[in-house]
Amino acid sequence: MATESAAQPGTLPTPVVDQAHAQNLRVTEIFFSLQGETSRIGLPTVFIRLTGCPLRCGYCDTAYAFHGGNSLSLATIMQKVATYQTRYVTVTGGEPLAQRPVFMLLRQLADAGYSVSLETSGALDVSAVDARVSKIVDLKTPGSGELARNLWSNLTHITTHDEIKFVLCDEADYDWACQQLHTHQLVARCPVLFSPVYGKLAPDTLASWILRDALPVRLQVQLHKILWGETPGR
Ligand code: SF4
Repeated sequence: MATESAAQPGTLPTPVVDQAHAQNLRVTEIFFSLQGETSRIGLPTVFIRLTGCPLRCGYCDTAYAFHGGNSLSLATIMQKVATYQTRYVTVTGGEPLAQRPVFMLLRQLADAGYSVSLETSGALDVSAVDARVSKIVDLKTPGSGELARNLWSNLTHITTHDEIKFVLCDEADYDWACQQLHTHQLVARCPVLFSPVYGKLAPDTLASWILRDALPVRLQVQLHKILWGETPGR
């Protein structure tokens, strides 16, 4: 039985899902920590890390989320989130959009009054993400090894409360990102984040390039790694 409500004028329809499997997601971990990235950096946040990703970026720091996990109902996930005293929730992965029920989870979280962000690779269609959710969309660089996976049509669904993120391996990636800024007029769409690959590109080097070129982007370092290193679940 379909439970989806009709789309309101000006909003995108929520995808129809198989109700037999609609209420479960495979989850690697749910944990409470400080947001380490984006404009929400430093905010106490509940993270829901979904299992699985169809990409294999060379710098991936969450390969432990590629497999395994536990199948949890949306109700169980919502109950777990409610045990933490915060209104900030981040749905991440892996690639969270690889599991169709995530669209329903995002809507339920927003309905419950949470301020929700979604971290996605940029390889999967974001058009059906609830409009209240802040989408953090990667543009995969040549150095990631997954350049061909960028779904460029996603840019048409970016709004001012979303963010575009480049994870940069080296100067060639930086130059490529600068080209995309210009070609797609990204700064006019939303905040743009330039993040160096941890342990590969020195943050102060990236900072010097941004200042040299007076780029209107935000240098992002991963706060959680400064605080706790590469410990999973932090
Ligand atoms: S998209 Fe994210 S989770 Fe998937 S391989 Fe790349 S860095 Fe890892």
